[in-house]
Amino acid sequence: MNPDQIEAVNNGRPVVFRDATVLTMDGSGGAEHRVIEHGDVLVVGERIEAVGPGLAVPEGTVEIDASGGILMPGMVDTHRHMWQTALRGLGADWSLTQYFVFYYLTWGKIFRPEDIAAGNLLSGVEAVDAGVTTTLDWSHGLQTIEHGEAAVDALAASPGRSVLAYGNLLGAPWEWTNSPDFRAFAKRRIDKRTDRLGFQLAFDVTGDPAFPEKAAFEAARELGLRVSTHAGVWGATNDNSIRLMHEHGFMTPDVTYVHAATLTEDSYQRIAATGGTVSVSTESEQSAGQGYPPTWALRKHGIGVSLSMDTSVWWSADLFSAMRATLSADRSREHLEAHARGETVTHNALRAEQVVDWATIGGARALGLADRIGSVTPGKQADLVLIKNDDAPALFPLLHPYGSVVFQAQRGDVDTVLVNGRVVKHGHRLVGNELGAAKAAVAETVEYARKTMGPEAWAQAMTPDVPETDLIANPYTYTGYDGGADRPRAQASEPDAG
Ligand SMILES: [Zn+2]
Repeated sequence: MNPDQIEAVNNGRPVVFRDATVLTMDGSGGAEHRVIEHGDVLVVGERIEAVGPGLAVPEGTVEIDASGGILMPGMVDTHRHMWQTALRGLGADWSLTQYFVFYYLTWGKIFRPEDIAAGNLLSGVEAVDAGVTTTLDWSHGLQTIEHGEAAVDALAASPGRSVLAYGNLLGAPWEWTNSPDFRAFAKRRIDKRTDRLGFQLAFDVTGDPAFPEKAAFEAARELGLRVSTHAGVWGATNDNSIRLMHEHGFMTPDVTYVHAATLTEDSYQRIAATGGTVSVSTESEQSAGQGYPPTWALRKHGIGVSLSMDTSVWWSADLFSAMRATLSADRSREHLEAHARGETVTHNALRAEQVVDWATIGGARALGLADRIGSVTPGKQADLVLIKNDDAPALFPLLHPYGSVVFQAQRGDVDTVLVNGRVVKHGHRLVGNELGAAKAAVAETVEYARKTMGPEAWAQAMTPDVPETDLIANPYTYTGYDGGADRPRAQASEPDAG
């Protein structure tokens, strides 16, 4: 497509992808997903019109040569703190404790509405660039309604589809969900939700036996909003939170449990029995320590899974990475458990196809959007991703397309992305001009945060202390070991914010 054709498609001209390996991700389970070799997908307006080989198309339809590529549904990230993209990478070496201290106790409060907007916009652009067409913004930095308005405006200006899960880490959810100004915001913005911008509530359940969160769940019910909650997080939320929610009747299919990594059988059984889904952030759980990435347990309970990347203060908006990490973590666990029994895994239980399901239709189900997005199905809204890179060796030959998506492809291989039938990326390049604005806004936020925190706190945030560790005794003696002088040390630095 040339720029004129892209504009024509974005003004309603039909577009057809020709000769792709189409991963439809339709059907209700792993084996029912259809793979169509040499398949075409026709998009008319906002919707997928037809899927199959050698499609007849209306006159004037723009054609995209998708040969050698994989066409799949746009990916869905069900838990992202998009505002934290403004400090991308700052916490690469953090523990979860350091994250809590930084955002919850110390610096979260300095974020202004424009800083929330800056992070959201950059994260929104990053998402579509990586083939993530829908993102749930787990937005817990909304300390005032002005912050909330800024978050909504930024998502509305983003090229992708979003769900704002409204939250406020500095306030009590049973208070802010029932405050007059939040209710006025709900009338103004939430009641006007659209296909491209939905809403949920985001808050955690502390496990306090008095269950003060009851009022927040009631508010969600009253406003017709789903709830997303961090559950089963080592040291923060545990089985008590699940039990309290269950006993009070607030565990429903409308709840997403984020992480759910440190829970007992009993909690998983309650989740399974009430139809909730779990958003697994494998890279987060592995690095921050909420618990072992739980897909190996969720599978045994038949609990629906979706994938997420949590926050760019550590990680990225890259669901290729999430799929790869999740499949690997699940298999690691299977091997470790088998070895502990003195056995060998001879057949892998979790397949590449299943994690592609979780990254697409699984995410759509978790958000209650599976009737509209998440698969390449006629009648659904056209959120599509073409993975194709003729100049790279990694996508050839294409023998096992799910395997190629999970273990071979990366976000640079995303050639074309459609959201709601609009072309937002083509020829490996973003179509809109949001990136420049997003970078400028984030640069201002970085400048402001750095100044407000001061050079010492800024440098310290990036280089937390390394704990002392000693090598264990070795009867054969160590050779060439210098006592650890080359280990990284906390040091003051002034990296360029760009
Ligand atoms: Zn989170």
